[in-house]
Amino acid sequence: MAICGLQRAIKEGHAMPGLSKRITHLTGGGDDGWGLFYEARRRKSAGAPILELTIGEHDVRTDPAILDAMHAAAKGGHTGYAAVPGIEPLRRAVAARLSESSGVQHEAENVLVTPGGQAALFAAHHAACDEGDKALLVDPYYATYPGTIRGVGARPVPVAARPEDGFQPRESDLAVAAVGASSLLINSPNNPTGAVYTDVTLEGIARVAEAHDLWVISDEVYDSQVWDGAHRPFASLPGMFARTLTVGSLSKSHAMTGSRLGWVAGPREAIAHLENLATHTTYGVPGYIQEAGHFALERGATAEAEVAAPFRRRRDMVLARLEGQQALHAIPPAGAMYVMLDVRATGLSGQAFGAGLLDEEEVAIMPGESFGQAAAGHIRVALTLPDDLFEEALDRLFAYAGRQMEKAHA
Ligand code: PMP
Repeated sequence: MAICGLQRAIKEGHAMPGLSKRITHLTGGGDDGWGLFYEARRRKSAGAPILELTIGEHDVRTDPAILDAMHAAAKGGHTGYAAVPGIEPLRRAVAARLSESSGVQHEAENVLVTPGGQAALFAAHHAACDEGDKALLVDPYYATYPGTIRGVGARPVPVAARPEDGFQPRESDLAVAAVGASSLLINSPNNPTGAVYTDVTLEGIARVAEAHDLWVISDEVYDSQVWDGAHRPFASLPGMFARTLTVGSLSKSHAMTGSRLGWVAGPREAIAHLENLATHTTYGVPGYIQEAGHFALERGATAEAEVAAPFRRRRDMVLARLEGQQALHAIPPAGAMYVMLDVRATGLSGQAFGAGLLDEEEVAIMPGESFGQAAAGHIRVALTLPDDLFEEALDRLFAYAGRQMEKAHA
């Protein structure tokens, strides 16, 4: 221990070699609206009774039956190196789930198991983009997207989806941005907006992808949380399987965020190269976690619907509150565990609204500005507190919004 400490002291006493631009420029700089989240966490750990509606984490934990399967697998010896692309039964189970939802036959060879959807997004961009390539993403976007794209050396280019379009990206905007691009990252059901892409949107994306020879990286980690309409996997669109890398995860569908278990699925040749990338980066995912994931998937869609049900209920609680007031507006989210509220009638930015809400009511939300420019003037409310606390948080949120509205019109 002493030697280790000494080595560290000596090391830190000297000038450190320069770090790569790739990691020092990974995020855009500034706090991007995440300052509010960290401030809420700071106040909470100092004892303030903050009600948090911030990140996409369930208020329930992983089902004990899944944990029992994990424990049994670990005790049963699945603690050595597991097969790098994923254990065969899990790859087959993921392929079966994808075959059923998309109607396109997937085999185990079309699936690479990854440590969560996040690692799958990183791997997929590695497959699609060379150094300096233009990589499109739809704004508003999940906060890690631009950094993930920069992490592979590519250049993130956001394409705005507009609130007046229900945050569905327009084919014409995508077509303009697609000139010279290598990839397009889409996410339906969407975080943060809750938009579920319509057939018109998806078919427009397919035309743009075809015309500009793009890879489409389709983040479908919320595919089990659809409240209106139906989820249509992008790979199911005619001709699209060959140019789609689908990202999935058990984080949201099975409340397994901490288990870090996801996948990227696509054409065999792409997956074979991604297996090679995995060999040189993650070296796979722990076998006992994969065994638990296999057990979880074998329980079928009913178990997934049970995990999703509270979010639908809480979405409806928010929508019911919107009636009879003018301060907050929403595009009713068709899926995912969030509601995006338009706060522009209060005269505040999402950031200012969130800061005041935290100070005056001890409720934490994410400002829309954390998710790109297109969500400015909005806040994202995560539907992640038990119903009674969620009601309480909504009481405070709507009271605060009402006061701001009165001030704006005083
Ligand atoms: N994509 C989206 C849209 C997300 O919201 C998240 C997590 N919040 C992820 C990917 C990553 O999820 P995980 O790595 O836990 O599978």
